[in-house]
Amino acid sequence: MKAAVWHAKKDIRVENVDEPVVEAGSVKIKVEQAGICGSDMHEYVAGPIMIPTETAHPLTKGTAPVIMGHEFAGEVVEVGEGVRHVNVGDRVTIEPMILCGECKACREGRYNLCAVIGCFGMSGVGGGFSEFTVVPENMVHKIPDHMSYELAALVEPTAVAFYAVEQSRLKVGGTAAVFGAGPIGLLTAQVCFLAGAEKVFVMELAEERRKVAEQIGAIAINPAEVNVSEEIMKQTDGGVDVSFEATGVPVVLQQAIDSTKMSGQIIIESLWESNPTIDANSVVFKDLHIAGSIGYRNVFPTVIQLIADGKLDVTKMITKKIALDDIVTEGFESLLQEKSQVKILIKP
Ligand SMILES: [Zn+2]
Ligand SMILES: [Zn+2]
Repeated sequence: MKAAVWHAKKDIRVENVDEPVVEAGSVKIKVEQAGICGSDMHEYVAGPIMIPTETAHPLTKGTAPVIMGHEFAGEVVEVGEGVRHVNVGDRVTIEPMILCGECKACREGRYNLCAVIGCFGMSGVGGGFSEFTVVPENMVHKIPDHMSYELAALVEPTAVAFYAVEQSRLKVGGTAAVFGAGPIGLLTAQVCFLAGAEKVFVMELAEERRKVAEQIGAIAINPAEVNVSEEIMKQTDGGVDVSFEATGVPVVLQQAIDSTKMSGQIIIESLWESNPTIDANSVVFKDLHIAGSIGYRNVFPTVIQLIADGKLDVTKMITKKIALDDIVTEGFESLLQEKSQVKILIKP
């Protein structure tokens, strides 16, 4: 079968690999749709970051080369011995976290904080950019009949945004500022509205992405033209309740701090390649709360239902659909070069 395999930075190849074999407790999935994630992009441009190359991942015992793809949906075509809750023919999406199940975080149910967490499609085992894949039964979530595979492939990134907003102090009628209109930023803005936000500002340099932000009802601001915090102060009564940092760009964190009201909250949901410098007094003198949010836990069933029922319309995130053969040129390179791209889906 064909699969997109990460060998090294800037070296992802579509090649023929052996079809994965079902083992006890696992299920085989015919992949219907898979999305390219920002972290896939990081591995392509600046990797290896999460992909193990020399030292094997402690749970999977695997290293590169690895079949990429962790945002995907498909149909179950075979189930292994002992699988009880999944059947052949089930339409499913995948929660791709690889967990130890034994550490303190896992025992407390806070599995997104697992001490040795891995990700399917990165941590030496994978992945969704292939015709077939095999995953443990506990990664599988069934989707309703009326939900398309395309929307089901967007459940994973939406779960990231959903969890960040769920963790925040945003309240009905509140205000939010989202820094960055990549997929996670745009989805965060949408979830803020779903959570009852009255006003959501989205800061983004790329015009095309600002347009998407406006389409979902946000007030889009171009930080190259406008002083962001001054503008937000003007349009709110002294700043937003919650700011969400979704860029990972060092200078942006201070903008988020300056745009947040007294006793407000800043949620950092981005990953950083270099450290931001902030004015600590600007946090102290406003009684601000800065918090992190990583991945998600226990939200997949709710997110599936919200998307399936149209309460969370994520169709605007899909900007391109391509074939697996074209994943490098039309997928990774396209995301690098065309700022109009948000989420690209692959049909293996
Ligand atoms: Zn992802
Ligand atoms: Zn654990």
